[in-house]
Amino acid sequence: SPSLRLDRLLANLGYGSRREIGLLAKAGLIVLDGAQLRDANQRIAVTQDLPARMQVDGEPIDPPPGLALMMHKPLGVTCSHKEAGSLVYSLLPERWRRRDPALSTIGRLDKETSGLLLLTDDGALLHRVISPKSNVAKRYRVALDRPLKGDEGMVLGSGSMLLDGEDKPLLPVELEVEDETHVVVTLHEGRYHQVRRMFAALGNHVTALHRDRIGGLTLPADLEAGEYRILTEADVAAVF
Ligand code: URA
Repeated sequence: SPSLRLDRLLANLGYGSRREIGLLAKAGLIVLDGAQLRDANQRIAVTQDLPARMQVDGEPIDPPPGLALMMHKPLGVTCSHKEAGSLVYSLLPERWRRRDPALSTIGRLDKETSGLLLLTDDGALLHRVISPKSNVAKRYRVALDRPLKGDEGMVLGSGSMLLDGEDKPLLPVELEVEDETHVVVTLHEGRYHQVRRMFAALGNHVTALHRDRIGGLTLPADLEAGEYRILTEADVAAVF
């Protein structure tokens, strides 16, 4: 496993400047396997089990880099790092927003879409899920403004549907009908505003959109809007 100087490790996790961490160490507030680490220059092997073994000021240390989270994104927050207003990152603990490498969303949901959103600081994982070549299935529950006409399943499943302004047809989309204004769609790609634009092209209008599954990972029923959970290795494996 990689090793880092204690002050660098904690500074990268947002605990403060290296000077501040030096002071925490001197004060005996950093503990590893039951022993105080008073020298912030010492190297620490960075392993995923550190939160079970290391405390800062009596609290388990935050997860080391290589972190992946699932969030139940609420309506009304944006996935961007840049925009003003309410951001998904503001739902995370304050210190997590100072992490280096930073946490980023894996793909995006619109401001007015809710549901399963993944975040990670792992560039390789990010790339595997959002690369255009990634065919990870994404499932959405959709409420429609008008009743279905009946041909939607055929058009979406055809593999030849075109969105406005694009010349590359959509990969086949699976449609399950719940009732005449509620459907579940599964996409194997993710184009900009894809679900809303598909139904606009079908002469309908999406009134509510919620993602409940990515690959084999389903949004847990007990994860409320605005809450997040750290993914286990098994959860991450289930995405693919
Ligand atoms: N399709 C959309 O239109 N919006 C989303 O947020 C996700 C998929």
